[in-house]
Amino acid sequence: MENTVKVLRELVESSGNIVFFGGAGVSTESGIPDFRSVDGLYSQKYAYPPEVMLSHTFFENRPEEFFRFYREKMIFTDARPNAAHLKLAQWEREGKLSAVVTQNIDGLHQAAGSRNVYELHGSVHRNYCVRCGKKYDLDYVLRSPDIVPRCACGGMVRPDVVLYEEVLDGEVMNKAARAISKADLLIVGGTSLVVYPAAGLIRYYSGDKLVIINKTPTLSDSGADYIMEGKIGEILSQV
Ligand code: NAD
Repeated sequence: MENTVKVLRELVESSGNIVFFGGAGVSTESGIPDFRSVDGLYSQKYAYPPEVMLSHTFFENRPEEFFRFYREKMIFTDARPNAAHLKLAQWEREGKLSAVVTQNIDGLHQAAGSRNVYELHGSVHRNYCVRCGKKYDLDYVLRSPDIVPRCACGGMVRPDVVLYEEVLDGEVMNKAARAISKADLLIVGGTSLVVYPAAGLIRYYSGDKLVIINKTPTLSDSGADYIMEGKIGEILSQV
């Protein structure tokens, strides 16, 4: 661990344009389970696998079941930013980090103070009516007396998150790709790198300082310049 922290500290010190690319593992130390860890969502037994219950088809055909699962398993109002979120926000304030690219939908990077955050899969904090497009915050969804939140016009209010079978926002993808291509240090952390097209974005990095910080091996470890195994909050807090 000591050596890991020392190497990372040197990499950060010699960089002026860090980009961070992360996933669900960044928020596990805030108490939000990821998908693929041993105690993640995929290890639990539901009527259907999470990728079915979080799919566009399921949302359309069984909105009540969708919202029951979504409210219980994807919204964590008590979660607070952990040491990883806070360190990344600090680096941005210090002018060392230019962007956070995240697959997370929990908004914890912004809660920690990060400003330039590309949310590839959207956010639970943004919601909109599928009929008239009116926007709503998370509070509105949580306060809804019905399990399926409704707009004043009667339309269903859905989260602005990318469900399985849906396409990612092209503009967000382009901006994230551009930021990664310009980075002098790319830190990838807390992600299994199996969810595409998001995971493919790290290929836009052309430098020689690609660091992967993860609790378990990822499919892209062979392409990394530095592999650091451990908890991302613990590691970043010591840098
Ligand atoms: P994943 O569950 O597939 O992988 C998480 C990875 O992080 C695993 O390899 C795990 O070993 C590692 N990990 C867990 N805790 C860690 C820690 N403290 N430090 C370092 N590594 C840690 O998650 P993914 O790759 O992000 O893909 C799953 C999809 O699930 C994403 O699209 C994401 O949008 C969604 N998701 C988001 C949230 C959230 O917003 N917090 C939570 C669950 C799932």
